[in-house]
Amino acid sequence: MTKGLAKSGAISKEELERYRVYPSEERLRKGPVAIIECIQEIPCDPCVHSCPQKAISLKTLSALPELDREKCIGCGLCIPSCPGLAVFLVDMTYSKDEALVQLPYEFLPVPKVGEHVDAVDREGNPKAEGRVVRVRIDPKTNRTAVLAVAVAKDVALDVRGIRREIG
Ligand code: SF4
Ligand code: SF4
Repeated sequence: MTKGLAKSGAISKEELERYRVYPSEERLRKGPVAIIECIQEIPCDPCVHSCPQKAISLKTLSALPELDREKCIGCGLCIPSCPGLAVFLVDMTYSKDEALVQLPYEFLPVPKVGEHVDAVDREGNPKAEGRVVRVRIDPKTNRTAVLAVAVAKDVALDVRGIRREIG
């Protein structure tokens, strides 16, 4: 059992369930969808303003963001907007065997397309091999890179980072 965000810095499975972070199986089958792993009530709202579909809302500035998954079209614009690096995107329809996980990345050098990486979970544990298939850096935002990483479908809801050898 993991300790949870307040104690370990990594959101736990229990918290993911309690805050209903994961989309339903049915929604995952429809295509890419944002996954907002934000469970701390802090005054923050860039994700709300980043979404062209108005799929993210807040009841008050310090409330947790709410995602209308039926409005979400999986564009990923909310990912680099989040200063807490708490927004991800999962596309279970990417291919027969692989899912695409999009995640924020703030280290240098930025990976290259085609690079093979260790795909790691929220606590940094390796889960599978990943392949970088797209790198997006929007200079109009805060220059946080968004990596699209192909991984086996069975780890797509656990993979939230990458680790690489830089030699
Ligand atoms: S992925 Fe796009 S449509 Fe979905 S919540 Fe994020 S910004 Fe909105
Ligand atoms: S921008 Fe990030 S930290 Fe701020 S409310 Fe949205 S998801 Fe939470």
